[in-house]
Amino acid sequence: MSEASRLREDICRIAKSMFDRGLTCGASGNISARLSDGTLLMTPTGSSMGFLDPARISHLDADLRLLSGDPPTKEIPLHSAFYDTRAQTGAVVHLHSTHSVALSMLPDTDADNMLPALTPYAIMRLGKVKLLPFFLPGDAGMGQAVRGLAGKRSAVVLANHGPVVAGKDLWAASHSIEELEETAKLALMTRGMGAVGLSDPQIAAVVRTFDIDW
Ligand SMILES: [Zn+2]
Repeated sequence: MSEASRLREDICRIAKSMFDRGLTCGASGNISARLSDGTLLMTPTGSSMGFLDPARISHLDADLRLLSGDPPTKEIPLHSAFYDTRAQTGAVVHLHSTHSVALSMLPDTDADNMLPALTPYAIMRLGKVKLLPFFLPGDAGMGQAVRGLAGKRSAVVLANHGPVVAGKDLWAASHSIEELEETAKLALMTRGMGAVGLSDPQIAAVVRTFDIDW
């Protein structure tokens, strides 16, 4: 199987798995992945992640012109912002996942580091997660906000909207966005209960041991 065929299959499998587990609903969420020739595969506009057809995935050249398949997601600026600012990006996943969105709306959520340090895994996979402001759907400001981070963050959450995570490949980006959503869920579940998260020395040890950009 060619690289492109395998990646098309993986996008559809991973998207369906996320949809089936309620990580994004309806026609929300989108995925892109970069092929070794620099072209991109992207989920089509208006498509549901639970019902993608590998043959209809959008194939775009490096300048985001459609080569084949259905037209790509309208949230393409979110994806291109990561590819353009983080050279190591091989895939980007965006979800409208409930717990991340809920956490984005709480007034005492830290916009520079929105996940409390509850487990080492979110730190290892995501570094600090940046909470970006609310943008109207289709507002080009979304992509510009990601570009404004100058490639320093692999994971952001758009307030009242959802997370966007870049990874070195499709599996890495998928695992990372799931870690983000699960940590947001833990944060909400334990909110106000006096949960004992990681201490500053424990956080520092995780960052040092696993060489995390923090
Ligand atoms: Zn969205």
